[in-house]
Amino acid sequence: MVYHEPTLRFIGGRLALDFANMIPQCDALSWDQFVEFLQSARIVTTERGGELLALRRSNPQAAESLLRKAQRLSAGLHLAFEAVLHKQKILGEWVEPVNEILRITEGHDELVSVENDWEIQFVASESGLEWLLAAVARSAAEIIAEGPRARLRLCANPRCRLLFYDTSRTHRRRWCSMTVCGNRHKVAAFARRNAGH
Ligand SMILES: [Zn+2]
Repeated sequence: MVYHEPTLRFIGGRLALDFANMIPQCDALSWDQFVEFLQSARIVTTERGGELLALRRSNPQAAESLLRKAQRLSAGLHLAFEAVLHKQKILGEWVEPVNEILRITEGHDELVSVENDWEIQFVASESGLEWLLAAVARSAAEIIAEGPRARLRLCANPRCRLLFYDTSRTHRRRWCSMTVCGNRHKVAAFARRNAGH
């Protein structure tokens, strides 16, 4: 078994946003992508991730059932976050996959130091397989409960479309990442300015 280091780029600032950012709305999440997400988010160790990858062969029914829950969650989150962005009503059917996970997972809240602040994070009891989705569901629930007050933003680069939570002091962050999309924008604007000369 070959273990590879997690490679996903997490820029959302909230676990549920990174989960939604992983795949576009219309695509179906694959088992490998899901396991890679769990590793990158440090929900599981690389070693446990390798075991989960093997689960698809050793217990395909369990893997398929969890993957379906993850896909439902992802689809619901895309629709719910889209509504939050446009300050529209969030429908019960989009929230149901979140509740489905919250209902069956047990765990506790814990204060975790994030940069200079303390954040409340949910630590799930490791029973069954659903707990693997618990932290995402909890993070999503917090954003959905904030509703139109949530500082949810879409990257201003139309080809990027990544979601992020704006924690900047001015609340005017426009790019998922200044070094990726922000920089690209500056370079393009510079090229446009100079094209006229
Ligand atoms: Zn971007």
